Amino acid sequence: MRAATIRPRTPDSLQLREVPRPSPQPGEVLVRVLEVGIDGTDLELIEGRYGEPPAGCDALIIGHEALGRVEEAEGQVAGFEPGQLVVATVRRPCPERCLNCRNDQPDFCTTGHYRERGISGLHGFLAESYVEEPRYLVAVPPELRASAVLIEPLSVVEKGIDQAFLAQERLAWTPHRALVLGAGPVGLLATLVLRLTELDVTVVDRVPDDHPKARWAATLGATYVNSQAQPLASAGGAGFDLILEATGVSRLAFEAMCLLRPNGVLALLSVTSGQTSLTVPADCINLQLVLRNNLILGSVNAQRKHFELAVEHLEAAERRWPHHVEKLITHRCSLNDIHQVLYRPPDHIKTIVEVAR
Ligand code: BGC
Ligand code: ZN
Repeated sequence: MRAATIRPRTPDSLQLREVPRPSPQPGEVLVRVLEVGIDGTDLELIEGRYGEPPAGCDALIIGHEALGRVEEAEGQVAGFEPGQLVVATVRRPCPERCLNCRNDQPDFCTTGHYRERGISGLHGFLAESYVEEPRYLVAVPPELRASAVLIEPLSVVEKGIDQAFLAQERLAWTPHRALVLGAGPVGLLATLVLRLTELDVTVVDRVPDDHPKARWAATLGATYVNSQAQPLASAGGAGFDLILEATGVSRLAFEAMCLLRPNGVLALLSVTSGQTSLTVPADCINLQLVLRNNLILGSVNAQRKHFELAVEHLEAAERRWPHHVEKLITHRCSLNDIHQVLYRPPDHIKTIVEVAR
């Protein structure tokens, strides 16, 4: 079968290759891949910044945001009849089975030896098919066919927001104002979830007000602020109860610390693989965080429950703003044109690879 592969840590090694088709063992599921989303992690893998091939391989099949259809379930695999749409989770437990990995929360793995499909140590999904254990597959209703490829990035958002709300159980908290930094797919999906929760949401990005990203957010009733036209500090007003950072620019995480209201929380979601150093007004930031009881938390990856929440939120979004979520997908290519994933024109939001229909 055809698969999109890289040689990890080798720049620009993206290549379409013929690889053996995987065959399911008893209790496993063979999934035919329909669509795969491309994100910043994939581009950094392609640039050669990080990534690990599976043991004994020199190449890694990339892709961790995949919508597929069950082709065959070996033996009795309840709930996964052929034809069922599915999305797979990404992270797998560490070999040591640390406390959190044993507890079905490899997103909180403490050894750092977890593996991630399409990223580190395990092949991904950007191929014609893959095999998976049913416990890592999440069923998707057919009504979500057009937007379900966004479930994995949405799961990352769901975990960040879930963590923020869980942590805020430390006090009586009724958030009203939220700030989302970055109007990429993660920032816009965060805007979606926060609007479904009826928060007053401001989204900040560098693109002009008439950019598709800004218009997409405005349709949900969010306020868009162009950071090129208005400094972040002045967009703040009375501050925010909840801030989600999803720009990939670590400097903004520090600026955001000063925009929190008393008792507010800042959730950091960007995986920044650069080497930026920064001088910050440390006393001032520290003083504000202390006097305002602010909380800053980092969040990576997601649990199965966040994928399930993502499905529920996509259903709710479909009822409230029909066919709006799928408009995040601005560019499509096929497996044969895999190098098209590198093309990022000005109106770009999200590229997906259409593998099968
Ligand atoms: C993926 C996460 C993963 C993270 C770090 C993100 O792009 O969505 O599932 O944990 O990269 O590798
Ligand atoms: Zn672990």
